[in-house]
Amino acid sequence: MVSNDGPVNPTRATTPESTPIGLLVGDGIGHEIVPAAQRIADAAVSAVGGTPVTWVPLDVGLDAIGTHGTPMPESTLVALAELDGWVLGPHDSASYPEPFRGQLTPGGTIRKRFDLFANIRPARAFAGVRAVSPEMDLVIVRENTEGFYADRNMFTGSGEFMPTPDVAMAVGVVTRRASERIAHAAFELASRRRGRVTVVHKANVLALTTGLFRDVCHEVGEQYPGVEVRSEHVDAMAAHLVRRGEEFDVVVTENMFGDILSDLAGELSGSLGTAPSLNASETKAMAQAAHGAAPDIAGRNRANPTAMILSTAMLFEWLSGRGGDPALGQAAERIQLAVANTLEAGVATADLGGLASTAEFAETVTARVLRR
Ligand code: ATP
Repeated sequence: MVSNDGPVNPTRATTPESTPIGLLVGDGIGHEIVPAAQRIADAAVSAVGGTPVTWVPLDVGLDAIGTHGTPMPESTLVALAELDGWVLGPHDSASYPEPFRGQLTPGGTIRKRFDLFANIRPARAFAGVRAVSPEMDLVIVRENTEGFYADRNMFTGSGEFMPTPDVAMAVGVVTRRASERIAHAAFELASRRRGRVTVVHKANVLALTTGLFRDVCHEVGEQYPGVEVRSEHVDAMAAHLVRRGEEFDVVVTENMFGDILSDLAGELSGSLGTAPSLNASETKAMAQAAHGAAPDIAGRNRANPTAMILSTAMLFEWLSGRGGDPALGQAAERIQLAVANTLEAGVATADLGGLASTAEFAETVTARVLRR
């Protein structure tokens, strides 16, 4: 599937003796799917003879409110600053007590603190999983730090405000710098895939903001002569994804459009439970499933761990692509193949219409990962 789907910077290699990776379990089904992904990752590394991962457990979420009095302890952020990569389980911030409920979520805080500007969200259909677009295999590269998301587009405060009780306003922010770096991430990725980038904007209405984004992406594209580039309005793009989603390779867009289109593409290619993601800067990456904490099924051994497992594989690819243990790249391939073969064989959790529990699904994937 996706190969090394993130910005690459081979400046800081992981030590050959061990690969330290942060482990933040999160809330709800995180307690089931994160340990499953961890076990499968360990099995894959051992199967390819790589140096073992040293998992660094770090507190976050509801448990951290109990132990540290906050869902996002400063000690966790300090520890993350020392790591190149980590796995973050989903958080259920809606269930946090006041005053934490309305605050920036743990995932948002981490993305902001470490400037994880690229949200890489593959949407790939799997044989054995019913999908509206069974041939879809694309990656949405979403700008993660500005755009029309008011919670992240200001240095301090929010880009949303109310001058009177009856008037609400929002400010969108698009900069050349942020557009350039996300465009480079998209074109580099496309040059390792099928060589096509689609820039999604709405420059017929938001002419200055999304127009700047579109123009900068095209300028950057000139540095990648081997990659074909086209543009689409976001509304047309939604229709194209439904009608001919299999034709797209890498889609680069601003924050809010990327959020919406990646849920659409995830659903067209399968289900929320199979949609992985990576949040990356040039020096750090965070594996995070596209779905939430699913409190309705938490603790019942029913959650689909696929997205979390594949997100962890993406992190392995990213680490190996930037000077880490090359065996991590082979381990990632093994994990991706094992998941694809497991689903093709009809072993699936309830969200995909299957009968397997979380543990049974994870055991089957582990056995395939270990198979010679
Ligand atoms: P958030 O805003 O944090 O994304 P949400 O409530 O919008 O949270 P989810 O927590 O992702 O969304 O849950 C949406 C629905 O999808 C729920 O019915 C949930 O049970 C289901 N779901 C989400 N992830 C999984 C999974 N990994 N396995 C099975 N079902 C899932």
